Amino acid sequence: MDKPTQRFNGPPGQEDMPYLLTPGPLTTSRGVKAAMLADWGSRDVEFRRVVAEIRKGLLGLAGCDESYECVIMQGSGTFAIEAALGAFCPKDDAKTLVVANGAYGDRAAAILARLGRPVSKIDKGDSAAPSAEDVAQALDADPAISHVWIIHCETTSGIVNPITAVAREVKRRGKTYMVDAMSSFGALPLDMGDGIDVMVSSSNKCIEGVPGFSYVLVKRDMLLASKGMSHSVVLDLYEQWKGLEANGQFRFTPPTHALVAFHQAMAEHAEEGGVAARGRRYAGNARILIKGMRDMGFTTLLSDNEAGPIIQTFLTPRDPNFDFEQFYEDLRRRGFAIYPGKLTKRPSFRIGTIGKVDERVMQAVLAAIREVLAGMKVTDLRPLEA
Ligand SMILES: *Cc1c(COP(=O)(O)O)cnc(C)c1O
Repeated sequence: MDKPTQRFNGPPGQEDMPYLLTPGPLTTSRGVKAAMLADWGSRDVEFRRVVAEIRKGLLGLAGCDESYECVIMQGSGTFAIEAALGAFCPKDDAKTLVVANGAYGDRAAAILARLGRPVSKIDKGDSAAPSAEDVAQALDADPAISHVWIIHCETTSGIVNPITAVAREVKRRGKTYMVDAMSSFGALPLDMGDGIDVMVSSSNKCIEGVPGFSYVLVKRDMLLASKGMSHSVVLDLYEQWKGLEANGQFRFTPPTHALVAFHQAMAEHAEEGGVAARGRRYAGNARILIKGMRDMGFTTLLSDNEAGPIIQTFLTPRDPNFDFEQFYEDLRRRGFAIYPGKLTKRPSFRIGTIGKVDERVMQAVLAAIREVLAGMKVTDLRPLEA
């Protein structure tokens, strides 16, 4: 851990940068930042080796057998989501079911609608998980559904959805199963062998890289069958894969610094002990944060059974002296960037528990929150009425 007792952790010359307690970009290690202090040529054999190792490493991390491929796409996570939806979701002969319980499910459905692809949605609001029965019922009610899209950790609330139980219902009915594991991959167990045909994640979440690219793991036969399906030239997964396979190069300028940083981040992930160790560290962060916040009087949106270790949602206190903008700024000045809420119904804010942060950072943010609340003269932390 990089001097975690220090309040600020920025790179040399930027020590006053805050910890990013957000779901990406997030706080990265010095090793990851240092990896970017070089200019790599995108055609160089060394750089192409880095890209090849990343692709192979991601397949391994997700438990993929020989039947899967990894395609890297420039851009943030949503770019790979749109690329995957455009490549694999049916145009008119069938339909995609989006299992939504927050903003990211809504966004996937909106992308499909924009692409003119038939879509239906299970909407659980933004604080309840869908059950395997919910999905089974929806599939049985509409035989036109051929594809299912689900979010692993819905970052809107931090809730973790039962992707493996849902997979069984989807595969039993012979449908294609697609998972947005953006905010969970690398920290929560995920095994493509459990019936996942397509998985999407990005560079700046639990592997602890910097923003710049996203990736899709997919069954090779699906990828081959997707030739000509994409609505887009730049987001065409099949063509992107063909380019990478042909000469190890990207069709268009790759985010070289983000890729070498991610290569370093993957090495550090393995060194820490892989998915299990990373998940344990994040779970420890979440436990300390939630206990400390509850001890102060805050209320979490989710119960401990529902909340994952990725990001925690706290309900806005009813005390009239509480002002989120001031709370945010005062914490920022003390070295911690938190995240506004995104719930549609209840005012809330979020604190991420991922990134290169540990228990001591969590204790430090709790101390800072106590100071800021005292400064704002906030005492009644009971939530605003629902
Ligand atoms: C971060 C995230 C995304 C992608 O968001 P971008 O801003 O495009 O990187 C998608 N789904 C989930 C669940 C996420 O947490």
